[in-house]
Amino acid sequence: MSYTINIESVIKKEASATIDIDYEIVGEEELNEYRAVLRAEKINVINIDGCIYQKNGMPFVEYEITAEFIAECARCNKETPHTITVRGEKYIAGVSEDKEESDDYYVTETEGIINISDFIREFLSLEVPLRYLCSEECKGLCPKCGKDLNDGDCSCPKKEKNPAFAVLDDFFK
Ligand SMILES: [Zn+2]
Ligand SMILES: [Zn+2]
Repeated sequence: MSYTINIESVIKKEASATIDIDYEIVGEEELNEYRAVLRAEKINVINIDGCIYQKNGMPFVEYEITAEFIAECARCNKETPHTITVRGEKYIAGVSEDKEESDDYYVTETEGIINISDFIREFLSLEVPLRYLCSEECKGLCPKCGKDLNDGDCSCPKKEKNPAFAVLDDFFK
């Protein structure tokens, strides 16, 4: 299911209407549609709150999107919970208005209609980190034996220095 909002009532000249946005996405199948953009193993819930009204003669949207999900740690592969919250505000323009997608404008694909699923995907994607960590201090896995070093050291020999790197070490002293 995709959510769409008709914003005709705030496009009209001197419109005073306010459209509330308040969706909570909890269905597993629907949530799965956002897994790729979040790079999540599993999504628990996505919320979008906000409103659309006319500002300076143009439709204007204020939004807050929150996603709660499980993602794999880039170092130890442990699945840990994460939350991403995105807040913002934009003017809304239709494609025909020839506005560049920018910090000020959200350009809708269909004139007068906001597809909330696309909207959520677009703004969440901007906040997704390059990698998830279970904690900043995560020690990761031993590259040799694969042991999770957060649970303690393994018995692999430590730091066999490649002579080429030893020279670099001296250089950086
Ligand atoms: Zn980790
Ligand atoms: Zn090891």
